[in-house]
Amino acid sequence: MKPTLTQLTHLSTGDYFATWQRGGTAVEALHGSDGRCLASSLGAKLPRLTKAEMAAAHTERHPAYDLADQGAAARPELARRMQAAADLVAGGLVSLYEDGAAVVASRSQATLHQVDDHRCDCQDFLYRGSWCAHRIARRMALALGQPELVRPFAAPTSPQPRLSISQSSPAG
Ligand SMILES: [Zn+2]
Repeated sequence: MKPTLTQLTHLSTGDYFATWQRGGTAVEALHGSDGRCLASSLGAKLPRLTKAEMAAAHTERHPAYDLADQGAAARPELARRMQAAADLVAGGLVSLYEDGAAVVASRSQATLHQVDDHRCDCQDFLYRGSWCAHRIARRMALALGQPELVRPFAAPTSPQPRLSISQSSPAG
């Protein structure tokens, strides 16, 4: 019996999540961006998605874009940066650390920006001293409960060892 596609979602990763109906059983499957079936429940063999099916798929929207809309409504002058920040969060370019700081990669991934609650090292922040996309992205990642990472190279917490050599005083 030929399976019929009942639901198709275009994931933010570029893959597709499909629900098929096959002989009265619902089968869930992950399809790649080319439509080929990558994995399915029950190991079912499923047809490749057609171009028309992929074009009609409902697109999953990353929740960061909802925050960007809320933010832009409150601060219209920051609308463009809110969108850029949502792109960074949705693209997985924001890393949060336990100490509250974050590292945000540029969209070209060529530059890493060090961000905390008060500053960022990007040109936008240096020259305007305000909400750059990276600081907004850090706030969005926090608001979305993105897990925090442990720093790979933690600064030493114990004081630096010091060598102390006392001069021997001549015995009196
Ligand atoms: Zn910045």
